[in-house]
Amino acid sequence: MSMELVIVGGGASGLMAAITSKRILGDAVNVTILERLERSGKKILATGNGKCNLTNASLDKKYYNEPNFVEAAFKKFGYNETINFFDSIGVLTKVDRDGRVYPLPEAATAVVDNLRNELKRLNIEERINFDIRKIQKNTHLFTLINSRGLKVEADAVIIASGGKASPVLGSNGTSMQLLKSFDLKLTENYPGLIGVKVDQNLIKGLGGIRVKGVVSLYEKKDKIWEDSGEIQFKNDGISGIVIMQMTSHIGRIMLKRPRASFTFSIDLWPDKTQEEVNQYLLDRQYRFKDLANENFLVGVVNKSLGINLLRRAKIEIAGDVKDISHREMLRLGNLIKNLSFDVKSTYDFANAQVTIGGLDLKEVNPDTLEVLKVPGLFVSGEALNVDGECGGFNLQWAWTSGYLAGTGAAMYLHNLLFSSEE
Ligand SMILES: Cc1cc2nc3c(=O)[nH]c(=O)nc-3n(C[C@H](O)[C@H](O)[C@H](O)COP(=O)(O)OP(=O)(O)OC[C@H]3O[C@@H](n4cnc5c(N)ncnc54)[C@H](O)[C@@H]3O)c2cc1C
Repeated sequence: MSMELVIVGGGASGLMAAITSKRILGDAVNVTILERLERSGKKILATGNGKCNLTNASLDKKYYNEPNFVEAAFKKFGYNETINFFDSIGVLTKVDRDGRVYPLPEAATAVVDNLRNELKRLNIEERINFDIRKIQKNTHLFTLINSRGLKVEADAVIIASGGKASPVLGSNGTSMQLLKSFDLKLTENYPGLIGVKVDQNLIKGLGGIRVKGVVSLYEKKDKIWEDSGEIQFKNDGISGIVIMQMTSHIGRIMLKRPRASFTFSIDLWPDKTQEEVNQYLLDRQYRFKDLANENFLVGVVNKSLGINLLRRAKIEIAGDVKDISHREMLRLGNLIKNLSFDVKSTYDFANAQVTIGGLDLKEVNPDTLEVLKVPGLFVSGEALNVDGECGGFNLQWAWTSGYLAGTGAAMYLHNLLFSSEE
């Protein structure tokens, strides 16, 4: 007799869960992936700009919202296990200077193709265009119903259908609805790893400009986060990796305080103190006193950004450098060190890379990711309230949680099989 394991969602964690459980139980289990899109692994193809940054050599709990929960999970399936797993399906990897790990050919297709080859080799069934809308459990058996009313039965189910980020790539929030129907505690969701919208008047003419700097996030007057990296101005907001990391922190705080409001500031010249910047500007004024103001900061920052800073410092663009007052110069120096914006909102889920929030982690057994109130139901990936920073940390969570849920489901089915044979 074979047991039926059904996995909802053929994304990163679902594919890992399918392969793991089948490798453990072999012919004792039929593993079926139900995928709502026309193929599995579509989001993986879009990761890392098409290169798939699949993990990070500096994997550490500090890069996640729930450090203790992920730390325990990584002890079971962490960085080395991930590299070995990909080697086992034929994917060689390489590490860049920042610790980001990519498949050797630097193509996400190498990851997806090899995952799919492994599905075939293990005889794992995939049913595509199969959008699950409902899951019920009667005594031991689960019934899953899709958007066309088709039913599938299973002895165990893994919900691996992701969060709400980038719904065109499949994850449209149905995980949350499916989990809610079991009366489980879910947090709110916010988009993470995305840009922020700010007052457009403050960034007029800056669209497309990239700068490097240190970004500090404030809730009221309290500094709550700081990091450095590339900042990218857009026509209606600001993005770039460091800003994307910031929005994940905003989302995490919103889970606790939904009405929180935020400001952030950019230090455009982090290796100089405020006094050094002020002194430099005053010296520069003396040396270039005959210049027109619009050229004053050319060579210090991007020209358009320089003009923007002069405007914000209320310095007449049409004037001459020699006429800038001491006070105006200090205002300009302050803006270089502390270019601040109110956060109007983050951009929405359409282009977000990750979902902040998900199933409350108290609802699952941390070793197996089985839902405590519903034996035989497991949850993996972004559907859980786990999110990581940019750099391969979210895919790592997908592999790790897929492994835990796949192992947990295999153990559950093994016990069922054993008890039914007694
Ligand atoms: C553009 C982009 C780039 C990214 N780059 C990186 C990166 O380089 N490195 C990194 O670590 N992370 C990256 N991420 C994040 C990472 O891709 C995700 O965290 C990870 O894929 C989540 O895996 P998952 O299995 O939980 O969900 P998903 O990968 O979202 O998979 C969920 C699957 O379930 C299917 N599904 C959803 N609902 C249903 C349903 N009702 N019935 C059946 N099937 C369903 C979906 O179609 C999808 O295939 C990126 C994300 C995006 C959007």
